[in-house]
Amino acid sequence: MRFLYIKRVHLYEILQRAKESNVEICGFLLGQEHEDGFFVEEIVFTKNKLNSPVEFEVDPLETLEVFQKAETEELEIIGIFHSHVNCPHYPSGKDLKGMDLWRNAWLIVSTLGTYGAFLLKDGEIKEIRVVVLD
Ligand SMILES: [Zn+2]
Repeated sequence: MRFLYIKRVHLYEILQRAKESNVEICGFLLGQEHEDGFFVEEIVFTKNKLNSPVEFEVDPLETLEVFQKAETEELEIIGIFHSHVNCPHYPSGKDLKGMDLWRNAWLIVSTLGTYGAFLLKDGEIKEIRVVVLD
């Protein structure tokens, strides 16, 4: 079992922005990956290029900027987050394809107020326990 450690303020901000948006919101989780889990130090919101309530995509140039920011701050991109509008926080078919490309932690929040983190390993979705830090 691996864990995703995230500060309450960060999780709250993602949930809050998700609830205020009619389209999926998205961004990156920056931090460090250790043996027992992912430690989120910073969250970076990006635009949803598709502006859609059912899918998201981040512009490659914006992704590059986040990579550079992470490098400057000596952090890694340990995950991706996005929201689901009025449906549960489980990965969609399209998310699975994305998870195959981005083999890091996927934090999904629902505008219904729930959230979960997932990892694709050996072609299977594994849920990672989210530990909220005060
Ligand atoms: Zn999704």
